[in-house]
Amino acid sequence: MSDTTLSAERRAEPLPEFWPTMPAEKPARAIWLPWPIVAALAPLFWLMPKRLGPHFAAAGWRAALAAQLLWTVYGIGCIVVALDAPNYGWVTYVTGQSPGQQQPSIWESPTFSEIVRTPLAALAIRASYHIERGEALLLGLAKIVGIELALIAGGWLLVPFALSGQSVWRTFGRCARLTLWCSTSVIVPGLVLQGIVVFGGAGSADYADNESGILLCAYVLWFLWLWICSGQRYAGPADSVARQPRRPQCEGCGYILTGLTEHDRCPECATSVESSLPGRRKPPAYAEARSRLGRIPTFLQTQIAVVVEGFFFRNLALDGGYSAARRFAVRAYLFAGIIMAVRRGASYGFVSPLYDVFFAVAATILVAIMVSSIAVLVMARFGARPIQPYATAVFYWTAWLPIPGVVMIGVLAVARCIPGSLRTPHLWNPNATFLVANGMRGLGFLVYLVLFAIALWQLCRIPEQIRFPNR
Ligand SMILES: [Zn+2]
Repeated sequence: MSDTTLSAERRAEPLPEFWPTMPAEKPARAIWLPWPIVAALAPLFWLMPKRLGPHFAAAGWRAALAAQLLWTVYGIGCIVVALDAPNYGWVTYVTGQSPGQQQPSIWESPTFSEIVRTPLAALAIRASYHIERGEALLLGLAKIVGIELALIAGGWLLVPFALSGQSVWRTFGRCARLTLWCSTSVIVPGLVLQGIVVFGGAGSADYADNESGILLCAYVLWFLWLWICSGQRYAGPADSVARQPRRPQCEGCGYILTGLTEHDRCPECATSVESSLPGRRKPPAYAEARSRLGRIPTFLQTQIAVVVEGFFFRNLALDGGYSAARRFAVRAYLFAGIIMAVRRGASYGFVSPLYDVFFAVAATILVAIMVSSIAVLVMARFGARPIQPYATAVFYWTAWLPIPGVVMIGVLAVARCIPGSLRTPHLWNPNATFLVANGMRGLGFLVYLVLFAIALWQLCRIPEQIRFPNR
C-alpha cells in the first residue's frame, strides 16, 4: 500500500539522489568472557546455538581451537572406545555394566578417573600402532590436517547463511570458527555409539552397522542444524556494508537515474524509468506471512510462484528480505529431503526403512546446501560484490529442489495404477501394459531432464535479473 501511495505522490517528481534507507536490524552484542572459560562451556553451544552463536564466534580463534582440542579430540576418543573397548566407556560405567561392577572379572572394576581418561588412552593406543611405521603416522597426520581444512572450508559454505553485513573475509573467519565450535559436538554421537555397541545390535553385525549408519545420518543433520542456527543472528556493526544507501538506478543497465522522472526513459538503454521504480519489486507471499501457521500455505504458494513465474526474480524485493528467504530455503531443503526419501521408497522399496529415510534426507540436504552456497558465492564473485542480494534470490530458487522428485512420484503412481504393469513379462513376449508403464517411466525421466534444465537456466539468469535492484 505504501509503495503505491509513495509512487503516486512522487508522480512526475525527479528521483532523489538516494532512496530512503530501511530501518536496520538490531545487531547482537557479544558478551566478553576469558577464552578458557568459553572453551570449557562448549556444551552450552550445542544446546542453544542460535542464542550463543554470536558470543562464541566473538571469543576468537584461541577459544575455538582450545575447545576443539578439549572436546573434539575427546569425542573422537569416545568413538574409538566404542569400537575398541566398549566395556570401558562412559555408558557402561554409568549404567553399572563395566567389568567388575556387577559381573565377576579378574581385573578390578575401573575407577571414575580411569573412565575419564579411557578415551584419550584409546586414542594413544591407536596412535601407537602407527608410530611403529613412519609412513602410517604421516598418513594419520595428513588425515587430521585434511579434516581440519575441510572443517574450515565448510566455513566458506556457511557464509551465505551467516551474513553479518561485514566484509566477506571477516564473515568467513567467523564462519570457520563456528564450524570448529560445531565440531566439538562429536562427543554426543561418540557416547551414543558406545550405547549402541553395548546395548543395541542384538549380536548381528549387519544390524549394528545399520544403527551406526542411522547415527551418522542423524549426526550430519544435527551438525547442519547447529551450523545454520549458530550463524543466524546478525552480529556486525549497525551501519554495515549491506545497509549502505542505494542510488536510484536503471534496472536494465545500472545508469544513475537521479533527477529523471518516471515518464522519462533511461538515457543509456532506453528502458522506461517507470519499470525501474522500487514499487515493482515485492516480497513473496512467504515473507509476508505473519503467523507460523500462515507460513505453511504461503510456503507452497511461493514454491509454485518461483517455478511458474518467469520473472519471479525480476519482481523480487531484495532489501530486508534476507531472513525470510533463509527460513524459506531451510524449509525447502527439508521438503526436498523428505520427497527424495519417498521417491526412493516408491522406486526401489526400502531395505531397512529408517536408515534409507535418514540417508536420503541427510544426503539431499547436504548436497542442496552445497549447491546453493556455491551458487551464491560464484554469483557474488566470492565476495567481490555484496553477497546478501544473491543469497536472498538463490534461497528462493531452492524452491526448485523438491520439484523433480514430486514429478517422479506422480509418474510412478500413475504407472502403478496401470494393471499388470509391475509384473515382469518374458522378454520375448512383453505385454502392452508393461510397454505403456515403461514408456511412462521414460517420459518421466524426460520431464525430469527438462525440469532440471529449466531450473538451471533460471539459476543462471538470477545475476542478470537482480544486478541493479532498486529495492
Ligand atoms: Zn538503462
